[in-house]
Amino acid sequence: MPELLPCKLPQRLETIFYDAIISSEKSEVEIGFHLCGTSLEDAEPARLCLGEKCFVKITDCAEVGKAHFGSFHTHPDAAIPIEKVPSDTDVDVALERGDRIDCIGFMDGPSVKVLCWCPPVDYEKKLKLSWEYGQWQWDLRVWSRRVEDWNNEYEKYLKAKERYEVVKELPVRPWELHRHLEELKEQEKLLNEWRERLENERKKILREAEELREKALSILEKYADCLCESKI
Ligand SMILES: [Zn+2]
Repeated sequence: MPELLPCKLPQRLETIFYDAIISSEKSEVEIGFHLCGTSLEDAEPARLCLGEKCFVKITDCAEVGKAHFGSFHTHPDAAIPIEKVPSDTDVDVALERGDRIDCIGFMDGPSVKVLCWCPPVDYEKKLKLSWEYGQWQWDLRVWSRRVEDWNNEYEKYLKAKERYEVVKELPVRPWELHRHLEELKEQEKLLNEWRERLENERKKILREAEELREKALSILEKYADCLCESKI
């Protein structure tokens, strides 16, 4: 995946996006608004909307007496790579609503970033984008299930380790000491192997999350009329 081009956003909008991302990160609540106007230059935000699913309920540009141009919303707590791309709902909603541009804002480590994409005008491209992004969503679900499995396995490991710590401290009779130590050694070996397996699996899962992000970006790159990402 080549480096994404930086977005050419008016300073005024960057400031508005920046403030929204920071307060969304602090409150851990999604913030979104329509961009109203005829271009990015004269676009102004409609009333803010807050909350989980606010993106789809975003208020209308009629309130500010302008045409609908695009939209912006935040992905707070984007610790994993797949939160740094639009979700399949984001894509479908933007296509349906006829957004000219759609931006998401998030924190990438210490950096405040905004990723924008332009829903294609071409009908066939719209269909293909929606279809391929839908497929991507399935990959994402499979991946999420593996994360769940990993978490369950990790829980089991922690419990086993806890049991081991308890057994380690149990008093033993002198003639049982040798066998007890042998057993502890065996247990410890098994726990170490288990931990190593979990650690390898965790790395694999994180790599796959990064691959999923790249896949989403390459789909957008193929069909969207623009795609860019900036640190603001
Ligand atoms: Zn979103």
